Amino acid sequence: MIANAFALVSAAKGPAASGTQELIVQGSYLVASVMFILGLRSLTRPKDARLGMQQAAVGMLFAVIGTLLNAGILTYEWIIIGLVIGAIAGYPMAMKVPMTAMPQFIAFSHAFGAIAATLVGVVEYRHAWTPAKGSGLMPGMSHGLAAALGFEVLFGALTVTGSFMAFGKLQELITGRPITFKGQNAVNLGLMAVAFGCFGMLIVHPETTWAFYAMVGLSLFLGISMVLPIGGGDMPVVVSLLNSYAGLAAAATGFAIGNNVLIIAGALEGAGGFILSMLMSKAMNRSFANIIFGAFGSAPTTVAKKGEARESKTIAVEDAAVQLAYAGSVVIVPGYGMAVAQAQHICRELMELIQKKGGEVKYAIHPVAGRMPGHLNVILSEAGIDYGTLLTDVDDANRVLQSADVAVIIGANDIVNPDAEDDKSSPLYGMPIFRPWTAKTVYVIKRGKGTGFSGVENPLFFRDNTLMLYGDAKKVLGSLVKEIKALDDGH
Ligand code: NAP
Repeated sequence: MIANAFALVSAAKGPAASGTQELIVQGSYLVASVMFILGLRSLTRPKDARLGMQQAAVGMLFAVIGTLLNAGILTYEWIIIGLVIGAIAGYPMAMKVPMTAMPQFIAFSHAFGAIAATLVGVVEYRHAWTPAKGSGLMPGMSHGLAAALGFEVLFGALTVTGSFMAFGKLQELITGRPITFKGQNAVNLGLMAVAFGCFGMLIVHPETTWAFYAMVGLSLFLGISMVLPIGGGDMPVVVSLLNSYAGLAAAATGFAIGNNVLIIAGALEGAGGFILSMLMSKAMNRSFANIIFGAFGSAPTTVAKKGEARESKTIAVEDAAVQLAYAGSVVIVPGYGMAVAQAQHICRELMELIQKKGGEVKYAIHPVAGRMPGHLNVILSEAGIDYGTLLTDVDDANRVLQSADVAVIIGANDIVNPDAEDDKSSPLYGMPIFRPWTAKTVYVIKRGKGTGFSGVENPLFFRDNTLMLYGDAKKVLGSLVKEIKALDDGH
């Protein structure tokens, strides 16, 4: 996305730069590229993540400065207008968007980055296509340039509509359920084959204008038709994959217009998005094919019937508070519900009360807890919870759970579903999960009998040592805090 942001500006053509100016431009691009790489590296360590974002932002500043010093820019008017509109629209959006809405915000901004890449591709193609007077030839077009431009618009256009669709699903402007029809995958694969056919045609015969525009149209359509059958819950993986496509489109733009920082930033984005999608799929034990073609979450029949006759046991808040207050070790497992309830601050208060009474508190953070990678890490860090208390490795967390007095599940469901290990017919089967039932007692805080993202029932809620605390996470945690404080006051 960052790579695409200045693609339009970089595409300007004009007089050649002086030696010094060119040195400054290339120097800025070099600094920008180094800062992007350092930023990505810092982002791999939670405690340095904030620094990583700052390093990337400084890199972006250098990239923009270098681009604005480009001798090819003939007039700054449109650039300034664009910068002002972008800043006015972007700043309040970024400041106001809640963490739970971050996936759709990212999808929305990807769409604009991809629009930039696609427009540059179309403009560059038109530019190179303009025939030399009277000859009908394409003086500026080579097979290599046609390949770069074709690649750019193929992935760019797909990302534009795909990202808007992902935004619509996540924002619930359109149904989050997979929209499917018979033969859909065959139709999509067929259209993809035609689009790639046009791409091949363009490389061999760069002057085939119809192939270029047919490819743009098909890619725009494919962005919609390929995202339609994917459920809203799988959108974070799709957004990350589209991010990767946008990066590849930006890298192709860099080749097309001879901009080094665009190639580097695009390649980083392309690789980063792809790796992230792979990690998410792995943590859900799903294949890419299953996510893209599987229509996961479409069938309500996946809701298991077997627990209907069973009743889960509940516990009163007062009793749970006493046990938590005197527990030697507590493991908190937060999930999507905690993010929805915005219960992280009150959760920290509960943790501090338990710690004050001599109990040890750890958080078990699952790689796909919530709805985007690092969702819960970010939320807990926002509440000032020390990273040292987080167990982010599933095996480590399961080891700690075995000796815990109490496991407190806050708005989590799929990531603690034993069927992932026990029931081969479960859609969760094979997903690495936490085993809170190995703790002495399990408290589950949730509003009612709602299922998790996968739509399946959770047998954990019916186990002997599981006790339910029904209610909104923020309210229940607030009551627990109140009760523990009352214990201290001797009430
Ligand atoms: P989950 O399985 O979606 O379960 C969330 C639970 O929170 C629900 O059972 C719901 O039950 C409860 N809840 C909702 N609002 C609440 C509130 N205000 N207070 C208390 N409880 C509330 O969440 P998860 O265990 O975190 O698992 C994440 C799921 O998302 C996994 O299946 C994962 O594969 C999927 N996913 C994650 C990512 C990612 O990158 N993190 C990406 C794609 C998919 P009630 O309605 O009864 O309250």
